[in-house]
This record gives sequence, C-alpha cells and structure tokens, in this order.
Amino acid sequence: MAVNIEAYDNINGELQSKNVQLVAVSKTKPVEDIKTLYDAGQRDFGENYVQEITEKQPALPADIHWHFIGHLQSNKVKYIAPFVYLIHGVDSLKLLQEINKQAAKNNRIIDCLLQIYIAQEESKFGLDENELQEIIANLSTLTNVRVTGLMGMASFSDDLSKVRNELHNLKTIFDKLKSQNLPANCQPSILSMGMSGDYQIAIEEGSTMVRIGSLLFGARK
Ligand SMILES: *Cc1c(COP(=O)(O)O)cnc(C)c1O
Repeated sequence: MAVNIEAYDNINGELQSKNVQLVAVSKTKPVEDIKTLYDAGQRDFGENYVQEITEKQPALPADIHWHFIGHLQSNKVKYIAPFVYLIHGVDSLKLLQEINKQAAKNNRIIDCLLQIYIAQEESKFGLDENELQEIIANLSTLTNVRVTGLMGMASFSDDLSKVRNELHNLKTIFDKLKSQNLPANCQPSILSMGMSGDYQIAIEEGSTMVRIGSLLFGARK
C-alpha cells in the first residue's frame, strides 16, 4: 500500500493546531516510502528494529530525526548510539546505563523516554512507578543521558474507555514526575502516547508526541 499523503496532511494539520509532535512510524516500510513523507515535510521517523534503523539511516537525508521506539536490547545500543535522536522505550536501569556508556563513547548526550507499563494486558515491557523512581534516583550519575519524558502503550482493545483510562493513568504519572524534585538531567516535557488507533484519545488525555504508522504508510504485513 502506498504512502497516504492526504492522511499525512490532515493528521499533521490537526497535530500542529494542538501542538503535538508527530513521529511517523516507518518500521517494515522501504526507504522510498520514508523519502516520500520526507519530501512532504516530515522529519521525525520511528523504527522498532536495530538492524532496520541502521540500514535505513545512511540511505536517507542526514537531517532526519531517528526515534527508536521498539524494545531495545542492551547489547545493541552501540549500533544506534552514533545517530539516534530519541530512545522511547527505556525500561530498565541496566539499559539506561548502557545507553549512557555508548553515548559517552560517541561524545553525545542521548535523550531518552522511560517506558511505563500502563496496559492491563498484552504489553510486555515497561516500568512500574517504583522502578521509575529507582531510575530517577540513579540518574545524576549518568551524565551522558537526559530523560526528557515518558512513553507508554495502551491495551490493543475495542474498549475505548479502558484505553482512555490507561492513557489517563500515564498522564497522571507524568504530572507527578514533573512536580517532583529532579536531577539536572531529568527534564520531562515529552509524553509519548498514542498510535494510529488511539491517538485522538491520547491527545485528549495530554499526549505531546504521537507515534503513527499504519494511517500514514498503510497496513503492515
Ligand atoms: C508499531 C508501533 C507504533 C505505530 O503503530 P500504528 O498502529 O501502525 O500506528 C507506535 N508505537 C510503537 C511502540 C510501535 O511499535
């Protein structure tokens, strides 16, 4: 299925009027499709797989912001550390320590979002509130990472009140974090929640960044 430029223009207009950032999720899609959306003005793209993102990055314009939104294994951080713009799915202190190490090797500070477990079902990854606090308590020693917000995924469910409730819970955790005493490298301003199926609800519940794939690029196989 082809890239849907009309959907892109509509969604983009809607998001800009609400001050919400769009990450176009291009996983499994060819570089030609990314280039089509790039030419329409999009600069932020999200990928889930290390091998895919490292193959696509050198084949596309250098001013693309590459977001890693998948589950990241510690032993693969080194491959994306030279260029990744924002890592959305940080779900352990061990992973954050490895990102810090690889960021230092590349003379960079890498921005990260901590992934919070909010779905009542299906979501396998993410921190609970205690684990979130443990990471915050250890953050000041990790001088090559900056935590710029939180990320979460609601249940894949037709029960929209359940989805809304989960997204609402994430916003509550986000607000609580922002009101806390935080180390200098924790500056939470991004709340990454909302996908093709629930982005409008997510925006109503306070999302500042949505990750949309299939509405823009067509269904994945
Ligand atoms: C695939 C994916 C998306 C985009 O999903 P769509 O339903 O195609 O919009 C968003 N976030 C994450 C973490 C994903 O893995």
